[in-house]
Amino acid sequence: MTKDWNTRTKLVHAGTRRSQYNEVSEAIFLTQGFVYDTAEQAEARFIETGEDEFIYARYGNPTVRMFEERIAALEGAEDAFATASGMAAVNGALVSMLKTGDHVVSARALFGSCLYILEEILGRYGVEITLVDGTNLDEWKAAVRPDTKAVFLEAISNPTLEVADIRGISDIAHAVGALVVVDNVFATPIFQKSLNLGADVIIYSATKHIDGQGRVLGGVVLGTKDFIRSTLEPYMKHTGGSMSPFTAWVLLKGLETLDLRCQAQANTARALADALKDHPALSKVIYPGLPDHPNHALAASQMDTGGTMLAIEVKGGRDAAFQVLNALEVFIISNNLGDAKSIITHPATTTHQRLPDEQKEILGISPGLIRISCGLEDSADLIADLTNALDGLGQS
Ligand SMILES: *Cc1c(COP(=O)(O)O)cnc(C)c1O
Repeated sequence: MTKDWNTRTKLVHAGTRRSQYNEVSEAIFLTQGFVYDTAEQAEARFIETGEDEFIYARYGNPTVRMFEERIAALEGAEDAFATASGMAAVNGALVSMLKTGDHVVSARALFGSCLYILEEILGRYGVEITLVDGTNLDEWKAAVRPDTKAVFLEAISNPTLEVADIRGISDIAHAVGALVVVDNVFATPIFQKSLNLGADVIIYSATKHIDGQGRVLGGVVLGTKDFIRSTLEPYMKHTGGSMSPFTAWVLLKGLETLDLRCQAQANTARALADALKDHPALSKVIYPGLPDHPNHALAASQMDTGGTMLAIEVKGGRDAAFQVLNALEVFIISNNLGDAKSIITHPATTTHQRLPDEQKEILGISPGLIRISCGLEDSADLIADLTNALDGLGQS
């Protein structure tokens, strides 16, 4: 039945499990463990745990299971495993599938902690990593080898919003038998179904749009039942990266409004991009929904909208960027994204501060670059706030 529902219906109802009280809102099962009626029942459950049976919250919990089933239904995935954070999801997906001697190809433009897992942790255990320009299919083609076990990329890169050709990369990876692992955070589970484009494993930081109200850290890995239950789950449940039931409950409530929020945020992002694209203080407005974005056609073919994020580059470098941030009254200066509150970030001095200057240059993280996460405020107020801050440049 769930399969035939449309997105908003799935987001409200999929995965619901009701207790004997038939509560309307999903119950939070804040319990670490579960009681068995008899010793025989305990023994049986440790041999094989059935659909509605649980052993220990690190292995699974009814509230967490509701979250996993709801997001799996949304994504059209066979199964999902919820994790303590987005990074626990990235780490779990990669470490559980790789071993010494394996080769991984990854896009270079990555969240800093993802790069740390690839280069520092996997590297330490003898996994070889090749970094490529994620938007260049020829580089992917040249980098994969018969021993390549996984390719890793962000569907839309942070903070420069480059769009990866998921189908093209998947074809290249599958030709050598490698799994395609996509961090789909910037694309959102609403606008891009990367599984349908050929990806094998999808990862979300649920801290971002899925919560969308700045309350909790969480993550999720989606894929085939075989991958989730035979490869990922044993690693996660024994190493302790599972999601807490309280977090799962917050995120279930977040899923109910996810489509409404993402649509509104994307409309605002588009309006902001249109309003700013010819502003004289800017050298760039980067938004995948704008026709002049270098990957616009690809973005339009993979995504329903241009997304909820944009980036702008002010002409005056770091000083001008700081002046803009400090002049804003509605936007908050922070480093989360996907939130109800519109957030402004200066990547070069915060999220990407630790990258060497030449890396920043390769990735386009210039001193004047500003990342914008559109929230749920009235878009006219956001446009006025940013326009006012930009108009003030050079006047102080
Ligand atoms: C935030 C983020 C992560 C990490 O998620 P946490 O929930 O903070 O652990 C990974 N990838 C991307 C693209 C992100 O934006």
